[in-house]
Amino acid sequence: MMKKIIAAFCISAFALPMATAYAKDDAKDDAKTKQNLQSTRQYYAQLIAGTPGAQVRLAELNMLMTMLPKGGDIHHHYTGSVYAETYLDWIGQQGFCVYRESDLANKQEKFRIETRKAYITETNKTCLMADAIRKDNAFYRELISTWSVVDFDNHVHPQVAPDQHFFNTFGYFSPISKYSTNQGLTILKQQAKAENQQYLETMLKSAPITDHPEFSAKIDALQANSSKAEMLEAFGKLADFLAQDAGAQKKIADYVQETINDAAGIDDADFTLRIQTYVSRNSAPSKVFSSLFAAFAASQNNPLIVGVNIVGAEHALVAVRDYNLHMQMFAFLKQRFPKVRLSLHAGELVLGIVPPEHLQHHMRSAIQIAGAERIGHGVDIMHETNPDQLLAELKKRNVAVEINLTSNDFILGLKQQAHPVAMYLRHETPIVISSDDAGVSRSNLSREYFLFASRYTPSYDTLKKTVYNSIRYSFLSPSDKVIQLRQLDQRFVKFEAAAAKLALSAKSKF
Ligand SMILES: [Zn+2]
Repeated sequence: MMKKIIAAFCISAFALPMATAYAKDDAKDDAKTKQNLQSTRQYYAQLIAGTPGAQVRLAELNMLMTMLPKGGDIHHHYTGSVYAETYLDWIGQQGFCVYRESDLANKQEKFRIETRKAYITETNKTCLMADAIRKDNAFYRELISTWSVVDFDNHVHPQVAPDQHFFNTFGYFSPISKYSTNQGLTILKQQAKAENQQYLETMLKSAPITDHPEFSAKIDALQANSSKAEMLEAFGKLADFLAQDAGAQKKIADYVQETINDAAGIDDADFTLRIQTYVSRNSAPSKVFSSLFAAFAASQNNPLIVGVNIVGAEHALVAVRDYNLHMQMFAFLKQRFPKVRLSLHAGELVLGIVPPEHLQHHMRSAIQIAGAERIGHGVDIMHETNPDQLLAELKKRNVAVEINLTSNDFILGLKQQAHPVAMYLRHETPIVISSDDAGVSRSNLSREYFLFASRYTPSYDTLKKTVYNSIRYSFLSPSDKVIQLRQLDQRFVKFEAAAAKLALSAKSKF
């Protein structure tokens, strides 16, 4: 007994000075961390202010934005993020070929992938294998610039409108884009990690469609001026059928399993992947509804498939015609699957691309009717009805806007200060910086932060808050968010130590 008392005394006698030593070390670390933060603030402020008589120190800012912890990329399309060079590698692995000339009588089109074995023969000289494409420099460059936006603006060439060029790219690489999703996600993860990114929420594959001759036709017969009751009746019939049809349920279960397989092995200690499922807004109404039903069913209670989205050119004929109908579909399904989280592409429009009346309500309807928690793009807010009220409502409802600067510049011609991002910041609307389709845009997430910082010169604290938003407004579970935020704290401590060092070494005159 005595021994125990002595031992306890000894431990507590030593514990006090030890604890004091640790506390001193902690205080020292704390002071150093604060000093690094202050140095980073000052250095960043110098870079965005430029030197007297000179402009923003672009190259140094670019480097700092590469090093910056990015948190997550939460507006990200898988197929548009893989670079064309990777797709060409996969064409080689699959033994497919690509046409170098058009022969429309035989349904062969230049730059299209041939996947039918019967056509991939020695005698088919107009269809090149991957190795042959790489050896033909002129065709190789033409191909990459057709499957992406590279070189679009830097030389004179026959061209379609930028938005059409952008959306056309998906049609070219779609036959190969699903070849090895797990491999593609691995490549995207490596790219993300190289940019100090820890989380990815990607739109991976559209949800499956099941038709019903009678109930699908009822939805397709709905008009823009159909009453809400008519819509709900038509939706209800197809939804009830899909909920009990074994074939439809199997498709949904297979889709979920496929997604789980695609994502297998991607998560590690430094990287987390979550999936959004989506529907295409330019399909027939019944197909949109059926796919949307599957998307909601797949996402409900699924820790991997964390949200639902709607994609495709928002200014295309069908998307514009059916916009209200789509919003009513979301509202209907949100009641059936209340836990499902929504981020909707809305307001990816500029004046002139559609008649003015279509600029007046897309964002508002996405929030008020569909119940979107996040808005993708949201660049037409200036043209919405009562835009000042909508701006206030975004803040009040805590709806985050996903900002995609490169994409908006290319597709919509929305440049520099014409983009509403600075307005959002001034009005304290939560924003996140995201990449959209970095493969097609030939961009990356660092580039998006670089554009954000160089064009709109947010303070360092605002920049940092924007990074944190990418986790805070993600569809991660609350407990996962805590883990990711803690990791982000650690990454910023490291980053600010490196930035402080960089600031010191950048002092020499030249
Ligand atoms: Zn998008």
